Amino acid sequence: MRPIQMVDLQQQYAKIKTEVNLAIQEVLDSAAFINGPAVSSFAANLSQYLGVKHAIPCANGTDALQISLMALGLVPGDEVITPSFTYVATTEVIALLKLKPVFVEVDKRSFCIDPAAIEKAITPKTKAIVPVHLYGQSADMEVIMNIAQKHNLYVIEDNAQAIGARYTFSDNSVKKTGSIGTIGATSFFPSKNLGAYGDGGAIFTNDDGLAARLKMIANHGQSKRYYHDIVGCNSRLDSLQAAILNIKLRHLDEYIVARNKVADYYDKAFAGNPRITVPYRSPNSSHAFHQYTLTLNGVDRNGLNEWLASQHIPSMIYYPVPAHRQKMFDAFGGQNFNLDITDWLTERVISLPIHTEMEEDQLAFIAEKLLSFVNK
Ligand SMILES: *Cc1c(COP(=O)(O)O)cnc(C)c1O
Repeated sequence: MRPIQMVDLQQQYAKIKTEVNLAIQEVLDSAAFINGPAVSSFAANLSQYLGVKHAIPCANGTDALQISLMALGLVPGDEVITPSFTYVATTEVIALLKLKPVFVEVDKRSFCIDPAAIEKAITPKTKAIVPVHLYGQSADMEVIMNIAQKHNLYVIEDNAQAIGARYTFSDNSVKKTGSIGTIGATSFFPSKNLGAYGDGGAIFTNDDGLAARLKMIANHGQSKRYYHDIVGCNSRLDSLQAAILNIKLRHLDEYIVARNKVADYYDKAFAGNPRITVPYRSPNSSHAFHQYTLTLNGVDRNGLNEWLASQHIPSMIYYPVPAHRQKMFDAFGGQNFNLDITDWLTERVISLPIHTEMEEDQLAFIAEKLLSFVNK
């Protein structure tokens, strides 16, 4: 049996090595390292893939979120509603821009922001909602978009974990996550479902005016060369990463299928076990399975994590400390938020190895070792 990893990027690379090496060689030969043709072609391919009018590449997913917020003309003190049960980047950029993060609960089953909690948190100062499609499945976007419309709020989708997931509305129309809100933001961190061989990110919108603003902000607020109209930043996807991503984008759908096969195997192996809740499958969303995350009932979660490690099976806790309990947010009153479900999940979730190259003997071994601890 091959050694088990959370993500196996070496095996994945081996299968596309010829294509990728050729694309890299082309960039090297052209020496168009910044804003080369690979970047514009990747942006075009990505917007086509997502069915969104504009895809604006940038340096990483955190920048994508930050630039999105910068484009909305918010002022210090404006409130932004966000889950606390997420990777810190989602919430950090809100604080960085001197906006006020308003942390709300997630749904216990879906791990995504609870629309009812959003409604309760809205005040006259609320300007935006940042739902996170955590672990690869869409938040309840139809309900969230209706709330946003009713209260005149912007919606920025944190799509870092769910690129390629499809959301079905009640009229049966289907949209890809990241293309539904005012703006979508994603990351190409190597371990993400569409991962570069370094850092990368992108921003999506159907709004022409916003797209122009987002592009300007990512490029020093520049309207034409050496004319800077607004304060921006420097956030670029380099041509080498764009060339690699152009290849990997062609494989994204098959990668998602491979991840779903792993999830199906786990689901079956753990079905009916009263101590294990397998990931909820939303009737409105396909699942990109960036993570396969169990919720444990009456199991020593950290003990399981250590037991698996002793069997050379990696497992991860995403995330051990929710945003509102991070020291970073003490000055924002983080500890004053009462988020029982978030705290509850933080103590019970565990994510198992899932990637595009997993083999059945590995899955059988993981399931067997996990169950032997859970059932003892
Ligand atoms: C990875 C991730 C980010 C940040 O992306 P980077 O490219 O690492 O900056 C933001 N939000 C979520 C939910 C993520 O998983």
